[in-house]
Amino acid sequence: MAENIIRQADVIIAGAGIGGLTAALALHEHGINALVLESTRELKPLGVGINLQLQAADALTEMNLREQLENIAIPPQNLCI
Ligand SMILES: Cc1cc2nc3c(=O)[nH]c(=O)nc-3n(C[C@H](O)[C@H](O)[C@H](O)COP(=O)(O)OP(=O)(O)OC[C@H]3O[C@@H](n4cnc5c(N)ncnc54)[C@H](O)[C@@H]3O)c2cc1C
Repeated sequence: MAENIIRQADVIIAGAGIGGLTAALALHEHGINALVLESTRELKPLGVGINLQLQAADALTEMNLREQLENIAIPPQNLCI
């Protein structure tokens, strides 16, 4: 069964982090069948939120997720360097 699933995949992605999952979604949008393999048995929350820089927001916009992003995002009010 697992071998069949692997054979059907056009692309295999190692890791179900935000990078791997975003790549899988982007490939799916182009009709490319991606299989995501994750080595960790249990996914746990890490950190306090997701800090998206401009390129990441642009990538989500290209994936038609801008509206969903704006519904949950909190734009930064200050920048301290
Ligand atoms: C303690 C800590 C706190 C953080 N806090 C924040 C925060 O508050 N806000 C924020 O925006 N960012 C935070 N970050 C950064 C953020 O976690 C990373 O930038 C982000 O997770 C990177 O995503 P990624 O998909 O590239 O990698 P990862 O999230 O690391 O995902 C990679 C995945 O690949 C899996 N993997 C690795 N090797 C293999 C393999 N050979 N086969 C299969 N699976 C594999 C791993 O188990 C993992 O699940 C924090 C990081 C740490 C360490």
